[in-house]
Amino acid sequence: MSQESNKPLHPRTRAVHHGIRRSQYGEMAEALFMTQGFSYDSAEQAEARFIKTGPDEFIYARYGNPTSRMFEDRIANLEGTEDAFATASGMAAVNGALMCFAKPGDHIVSSRALFGSCLYVLDVLVRFGVEVTYVDGTDLEQWRAAIRPTTRAVFFESVSNPTLEVVDIAGVAGLAHAVGALVVVDNVFATPVYSRAVQNGADVVVYSATKHIDGSGRCLGGVICGTREFVRDVAEPYLKHTGGAISPFNAWMMLNGLTTMDLRVRAQTDSALRLASALKDDSRLSRVIYPGLADHPQYDLVMRQMGAGGTMVAIDLGSKEAAFAAMNRMQVFQISNNLGDAKSIVTHPSTTTHQRLSEEMRAELGITPGLLRLSIGLEDADDLIADIRQSLA
Ligand SMILES: *Cc1c(COP(=O)(O)O)cnc(C)c1O
Repeated sequence: MSQESNKPLHPRTRAVHHGIRRSQYGEMAEALFMTQGFSYDSAEQAEARFIKTGPDEFIYARYGNPTSRMFEDRIANLEGTEDAFATASGMAAVNGALMCFAKPGDHIVSSRALFGSCLYVLDVLVRFGVEVTYVDGTDLEQWRAAIRPTTRAVFFESVSNPTLEVVDIAGVAGLAHAVGALVVVDNVFATPVYSRAVQNGADVVVYSATKHIDGSGRCLGGVICGTREFVRDVAEPYLKHTGGAISPFNAWMMLNGLTTMDLRVRAQTDSALRLASALKDDSRLSRVIYPGLADHPQYDLVMRQMGAGGTMVAIDLGSKEAAFAAMNRMQVFQISNNLGDAKSIVTHPSTTTHQRLSEEMRAELGITPGLLRLSIGLEDADDLIADIRQSLA
């Protein structure tokens, strides 16, 4: 659709229309091709397709499926990459994006502030002979010192979970590209709505679609966005043979999620800013972290890189006891561990999502016993503010 008009369409329009593959029935809603296989007209056609698939040709859902392809086309278009490969979960995307090219002896530099499962994937790479150097992602000097002429890739969460530290994508990409290293960014907290990752120099952008893309906490999914060469020649062979592909049903859910994502994420961000502003001077909290507050240490970078603070807020109540007591008093916020959901969620990272880390590591990352991660949903912001305030009483 966007290709035919001469004026580029805005992201919100493309999020509704891009990548549709209408069948002969002319259905309005995107069709769910709930099929793992495809039949061939002849043995010769099957043979030809296994040699090379054309743009509307499929073999097996582990390799690709028309509904999954619609989702891939749409998210790639929104992200500004040539192509994308949809995966069974965000972790299948992280694992696939790194494992598909890494080999023994490779050197990868990664920020230390990572989601526990991302750290696990890097541990697996180390087991297979990849060398990983960890840095404080916010400190460009540490990236500069760690990146070597032989560094193969850099990896980081552009906004870290749960302490909401922001990595300067353009700064790190400049250092990485100077030695020919690939820049792989886990961009979940930035969301595709505020992503300018590719303009800033990211080569590969990874999302957990489970989060803001689905947006209602219904199903798992992920996606790897990059050049056509990386996606189809490097990532796809690894993923299609190791089983990381998304289910067509989940791709169909994600495709529909994309149509409302912009509206949802902007509304959730407005509420997150209101909540953080309302709480920032509350003496019962030792810290209120929100990238969209002017007192965030990287506020200028946040505005340059994302233009808004996103949907996540972190607050520190000083102790585990105070944090648990407040969580147990919350009525609108649900105690859970997803994020980007329509329902607001409170998480205690040090005893759940980041429990696997050592105490020293948690301290180093600022994951204190009193820290709560808040994922702001679609409820009325006044109700969310009131819920947190009464929980602190
Ligand atoms: C949730 C999350 C993942 C993993 O995604 P799943 O869909 O749960 O596998 C990876 N990175 C970040 C930053 C996340 O928040």
